[in-house]
Amino acid sequence: MGRVVGIDLGTTNSVVAVIEGGKPIVIANAEGFRTTPSVVGFNKEGELVVGQMARRQAVLHPKNTFYGVKRFIGRKYSELEPESKRVAYTVRRDRSDNIKIPCPQIEKTFAPEEISARILQKLAEDAEKYLGEAVTGAVITVPAYFNDAQRQATRDAGKIAGLDVKRIINEPTAAALAYGLEKRNYQTILVFDIGGGTFDVSILDIKDNLFEVRATCGDSQLGGDDFDKRIVDWLAEQFLQQEGVDLRKERQSLQRLMEAAEKAKIELSGVKVTEINLPFITATAEGPKHLETRLTRSQFEDLCGDLVGRLRKPIKRAMSDAGITPPEIDEVVLVGGSSRIPMVQQLVRSFIDIEPNKGVNPDEVVAVGAAIQAGMLGGEVKDILLLDVTPISIGLETIGGINKKLLPRNTTIPTRRSDVFSTGENNQTMVEIHVVQGEREMARDNKSLGRFKLTGIPPAPRGVPQVQVSFDIDANGILQVTARDRTTGREQGITIQGASNLSDGEIERMMREAAQYAREDREKRERVEKRNKARALVDKAQRTLKEVTLDFGSQFVSYHRRRIEALCNEITESLRENDERAIDRAESDLRDALYELNREVKWQYEEDDEIDLFGAIKRTFTGEREEDYWPSNSGYREREDYRYGGGYYDNEDRRDYETRDDRDYYGDRRNSRGDYSRSSRYDDYPPEQSSRRGRTSNRNNIPRQNNWDEDDDDEWY
Ligand code: ADP
Ligand code: MG
Repeated sequence: MGRVVGIDLGTTNSVVAVIEGGKPIVIANAEGFRTTPSVVGFNKEGELVVGQMARRQAVLHPKNTFYGVKRFIGRKYSELEPESKRVAYTVRRDRSDNIKIPCPQIEKTFAPEEISARILQKLAEDAEKYLGEAVTGAVITVPAYFNDAQRQATRDAGKIAGLDVKRIINEPTAAALAYGLEKRNYQTILVFDIGGGTFDVSILDIKDNLFEVRATCGDSQLGGDDFDKRIVDWLAEQFLQQEGVDLRKERQSLQRLMEAAEKAKIELSGVKVTEINLPFITATAEGPKHLETRLTRSQFEDLCGDLVGRLRKPIKRAMSDAGITPPEIDEVVLVGGSSRIPMVQQLVRSFIDIEPNKGVNPDEVVAVGAAIQAGMLGGEVKDILLLDVTPISIGLETIGGINKKLLPRNTTIPTRRSDVFSTGENNQTMVEIHVVQGEREMARDNKSLGRFKLTGIPPAPRGVPQVQVSFDIDANGILQVTARDRTTGREQGITIQGASNLSDGEIERMMREAAQYAREDREKRERVEKRNKARALVDKAQRTLKEVTLDFGSQFVSYHRRRIEALCNEITESLRENDERAIDRAESDLRDALYELNREVKWQYEEDDEIDLFGAIKRTFTGEREEDYWPSNSGYREREDYRYGGGYYDNEDRRDYETRDDRDYYGDRRNSRGDYSRSSRYDDYPPEQSSRRGRTSNRNNIPRQNNWDEDDDDEWY
């Protein structure tokens, strides 16, 4: 059995965490970052890109880059506000009012669940790489204020990604778990979570090992993106007035506007005024046009005043539902990137006059909580009892279209409630159960979760038959409804499928496709890596030939040159023809040929050395065995540094030339001991250069041994 991870599947960013040695840790992705943009794209070659890479291509391929998809998951097209539909890619509805996202590059249409599945897949894969173990299960978080359809859809996304979704858990509850893990004294805390697309507020009691949610409320369509859009509109209106062009109508300009707006917004959390510059944003008959302006924090606050106003109601309602007043709250925990907006923080303070807790990382705390929940399910984390609630009331439609609530909001889950209903007409043999979720009195004003029929009721005067309807909510907050005719014992049940959810058949198909994509992707990546490796080897061989010729003359090399050049040509030719096996063969032969050449070079040095007994050349043996690096069957492929393309030459080269004074041969890259330690290597550089190198290597998260390979490729090969 594989590992179970905790995943915060955010609108903007996602994070994966796991329990290791009893403690939660956040896992960095393959690019070395602890958060992964929730962006999925297809590049010009039709290849899937996820995360940072996808985010980077958004401006270039706006139609094929999908972000913020969490706003669409589990929703109907007709439920979307016009605002949410304003994205740089296309959002469509199908015949059943479901949301579909076409990707022109690969001529395919996706359900939001599938896009989310790609993100989950990447996170799970990156976690596998880190753990060195298969990841088969996940606890996935959702906004507390997600309704049943949104929860189901998130669970489906996990399934499509090939994950066993062990639990769906509310984001603020997860945050509270992470916050409270270390402190188990009695506390009432308020978690305020505002990210890119959703807003939640939850009030919890933490008492010893009990985490009990008292109330939760929120807005699943309010987040940082809305703030960005206000800036986009402001910029676009200005530009429209000045230049007569609506930038929102062009996908690329819209995408650039959105990125600039987000950047400005983030800057305004730290400074009072920011510049916005977008050169060549569009072109008119007069020529290229540039956008250049500045935005002050107070202007921004004016633009977004009403959005901040919308945060008020859920806070108030959560407090009244929990039956507490602000002074009873001991701690405020701010979660989500948008909680850094000063105006948002002021609003929270205006309710609860205490300094928000600074001890949690607002970007990671949700994933950490999910990992803790995973640990609780797996038995690695003990002694915690978590009681969550259902965020929105659930009821059914009765005569006259009235919503009869069976499960009021903030009911502790898991739970089961039932009630007895009867027929409205004489001899009615069938009843239709229409399940709705929401607080409004009339059923039609709420979210319809689904309908089903109970048939075969024996004819009887109205009001006589007794139909017992039960609602079960499991620990995931997901609903199951059953109806039973008390006279006949006949039962009908459904797991509510919000109509935007996918059928089992569709999920199956999507699972297959996702798995196939992952496989194809891996193969593609391996192919590319192999080609790069072969090319690098050819370059290296040519350079080696040149250098050895310089040192020892063409006579010395001529035999090797013929062989090596022939093999290089063979590789180049095979690369052109995409003949994988020929590449492998020629590459292996070339390695052997280079090995022989290097050996001869080494002997030559040893001879020179003997002559020059008291000369300047010092030899240092590092104690490593030659077989560790050479030749092609030596197993270097398995080594970690293989991944960093070219990195493995580091060791090989070190061995090849270790017997000479490397300083001149390597262009001063090493000290006279042939030592690659960071300090000695960098000592040889002027200070500003060495610091640049230091930074670059950190950013790429490359093992120290390979530090200069990425940067120095061009110098070296
Ligand atoms: P989600 O949970 O929706 O994935 P995050 O918690 O990662 O979102 O928050 C992302 C949102 O936070 C984005 O809208 C981003 O612009 C915003 N954000 C991040 N940092 C800041 C900041 N310093 N000031 C204002 N907004 C920020
Ligand atoms: Mg979040």
